[in-house]
Amino acid sequence: MVKDDCIFCKLANGVIPTASLYEDDTFRVILDANPASKGHALILPKHHYQDLCELDEAVGEKVLKVAAKIGKAMKEGLGCAGFNLVQNNGEAAGQTVMHFHMHVIPRYEGGSKMVTWESGKVSAEETERIVEAVTPRL
Ligand code: AMP
Ligand code: ZN
Repeated sequence: MVKDDCIFCKLANGVIPTASLYEDDTFRVILDANPASKGHALILPKHHYQDLCELDEAVGEKVLKVAAKIGKAMKEGLGCAGFNLVQNNGEAAGQTVMHFHMHVIPRYEGGSKMVTWESGKVSAEETERIVEAVTPRL
């Protein structure tokens, strides 16, 4: 299923042409228009899924294989020392385009650490409450 007004559906299916690193029956991998580093890429499924919670299981099983393939090619071809996989779900998590995508962000020696957060603290009681809130739903 594609969504008529979705920019990533159009990019993934070649309706809007763009530089592609990779394509198969399920995905197209494009370069991000506002790269966090040289080579920043986006893995886009050709079908429309809003986010990871909606993603077809079979598609989800394939996405990490594609990410590894792209990351290895970036290390060889661009000389990055590593790469981050980033996948935002929901506005609160920073998702701005509501079509599932996985960022592959090359990281270069001496470059800034781009995926960071402030480490917090958690009590034993809070840990217990979290486990009790989540596990019955799995
Ligand atoms: P997210 O914040 O995870 O939803 O990321 C959306 C990403 O899509 C951002 O990094 C944007 O720079 C990128 N983006 C948005 N529109 C385009 C486009 N037309 N072509 C390529 N990348 C895009
Ligand atoms: Zn879409």
